[in-house]
Amino acid sequence: MARYTDVDELLKYIPSEEMMSRFAVAYAPIADVAPVKHGTWIENLSYEYNGDKVYDLICTNCGRSFKAEDWVRKDYHYCPYCGAKMEDGDNGL
Ligand SMILES: [Zn+2]
Repeated sequence: MARYTDVDELLKYIPSEEMMSRFAVAYAPIADVAPVKHGTWIENLSYEYNGDKVYDLICTNCGRSFKAEDWVRKDYHYCPYCGAKMEDGDNGL
């Protein structure tokens, strides 16, 4: 599995006299990596219909919400609006 690091942070740990090491790090191949957004769902019961519960799921990262029935709400592991990865204990992540 590939591992990624922040080159600017790594250079802080290499002494300035280690020019060859600093050069190797600074000019290593660059991967196109995006930071992962993290969030959790705030769940509020919206209404009940024929015994089924419908919840408002509110993303803590972007604040947007949508309605989800009780039987599918645990399947939303990512926010459909901002892409944040949900990491609360209830959704298995
Ligand atoms: Zn979001």
